[in-house]
Amino acid sequence: MSDTESAKSGHGSRLTLYICVAIIAAIILALVAPHFAESLDIGGELFLRTLKMIVVPLVFTSVMCGIMGMGDVRKLGRPGAAAIGYYLATTVLAVIVGLIVVNIMRPGVGTVDQAAIDKLGEGGMGTPKSKIIKSISEDSGLSQNEVSGVLQGLPDGEAEQPGVGTIIKNLALMLVTDNLFVSAANTQLLPIIVFAIILAALMTTMGKEVATVQTFIEQSNELLMKFVLLLMKAAPLGIFCLVAARFGKAQVEAIEDGTGGIWAELMQIGWYFSTVLVGLGLHAFITLPLIFYIVRRENPYVFMYRMSKALLMAFSTASSSATLPVTLECCEEAGVSEKSTEFVVPLGATINMDGTALYEAAAAIFIAQTIPGFDLSFTTQMIIAVTATLAAIGAAGIPEAGLVTMLIVLNAVGLPLEYIGLILTVDWLLDRFRTAVNVFGDSIGAAVVEKALPPEPVS
Ligand code: ASP
Repeated sequence: MSDTESAKSGHGSRLTLYICVAIIAAIILALVAPHFAESLDIGGELFLRTLKMIVVPLVFTSVMCGIMGMGDVRKLGRPGAAAIGYYLATTVLAVIVGLIVVNIMRPGVGTVDQAAIDKLGEGGMGTPKSKIIKSISEDSGLSQNEVSGVLQGLPDGEAEQPGVGTIIKNLALMLVTDNLFVSAANTQLLPIIVFAIILAALMTTMGKEVATVQTFIEQSNELLMKFVLLLMKAAPLGIFCLVAARFGKAQVEAIEDGTGGIWAELMQIGWYFSTVLVGLGLHAFITLPLIFYIVRRENPYVFMYRMSKALLMAFSTASSSATLPVTLECCEEAGVSEKSTEFVVPLGATINMDGTALYEAAAAIFIAQTIPGFDLSFTTQMIIAVTATLAAIGAAGIPEAGLVTMLIVLNAVGLPLEYIGLILTVDWLLDRFRTAVNVFGDSIGAAVVEKALPPEPVS
C-alpha cells in the first residue's frame, strides 16, 4: 500500500468511527430530548438531498464506464449473466433463510394486536386500498402517488389472487420507459441503467468515432465521484441530523400514542423484530460471506469492514438508492475493480434486495401465524417465497418500499391487507437493517461478478 493509499484508508476508518459516534449520539439525543432531535430534520434533509442529487447522473456515467471498460460488447454476456444469476440466487437464498427462521421462531403464534389491525381495517376484512396507501404514506414519508405506483394491479377491497404473471409483466415494463427524463425525475433507475448499457455497448462497437463522448463520460464520472468524496466530509454531521430526526419523530409519536416510547413499542413486537433481525444477521454474517469466500478466497469480514461507511449510510438513510454513491466509493476502496463496481453495483442497488426479500417472506408468514387456522401449507409458503422474491426485485431503493410491496405478497396468498397494521409501527427501524443488508449484498455481488469479467486491463 502506498503512503497516499494508507493515508486515505486511515482517514477512511476515522470517518467510519465518526459516523458510528454520530449514529449513537443521535439515538441517545432522540431518546433524551425527542422534540429537539426531531427539529434537526432540516440538517438531515439537506444532506440527503445533496446525496440524492448525485444519484441519477452518477448511475448513468457509472454504468456506461463499467460497460465501456469491458472493451468489447461481445464479452458482456458472461458478466451480465453472472450478475443476474448472482442477484437471483442470493435473493432466493435470503428468502429461504427468512422462511426457515420464521418457521422456527414462530413470532406470530399467539400475538394479535387487534388495535393495530382495527386502526387500518376498522375491524373488517377487505380494507379499501386507499386507506392502506394513506397509512403507509404517512408512516413512510412517501407520497400517496409513489405508494400507489408500486401497487398498480392490486385490486381494491377484498383480496384477490393477482397472479404471478401480472407481477412479472409489471416488472418487465419497469425495464424501459417512454420518457427517460420522467424516469430520471422520479429516480426510477432501472430504465436509466438499461439505456446506459445499450448506449455504452453501441459505443464499444464504434471505436475512435466516439472517443470524445467516451472521454466526456469518463471524466464526468470521475468528477461526480469527487463530489461524493467532498460530501462524505459532511457525512458525520448529516447522518447525526438524519438519525436524530427520525428516531426523535418515532419517539415523539410513540409517546403521543401512549405506548411510552420506541423501546416500549419494540418490546411489544420484540419477538417478530428479533426474528427478522436474526434472519438478516444470518444472511449478512454467514450466507453472503460464505459466497464471497468461496469465490474470492479472501476474508469476507475484512471486506465487510471496508464497506462499513456504505453500510452505516444505508442504516441512516434507509435507502439503497441514496446510498449508491457511497457504495460505489467504498467498493472501489475495498479493492473491487472499477469496471465491476461501476456496472454491478448500480444494477444491484435497483434490483438486488436480499434484506427486503427476506423480510417480506418472514413478515408475511408472521402475519399468517397470527391468524388462527390460516393454512400455512408448503404450497402457501412457496407462493410467499416466489412473490417475496419478485416483490423485492420490484421494490425501489427508497425508505419503506418493502412495506409497500409487501401488500403484493399478502394479496397473493389471500392474507387480509389490514394486518399490515401489525408491523407498521416498527417498520421504519427494521427498514434500516434490511437496507444495510441490501447494500452489503450489492457490494458482495460486485466482488463476486468481478471473477466473471474479461481479463483485459481497464481501458
Ligand atoms: N429501504 C429499502 C432499500 O432502500 C427497501 C425496503 O424498504 O426494503 O433498500
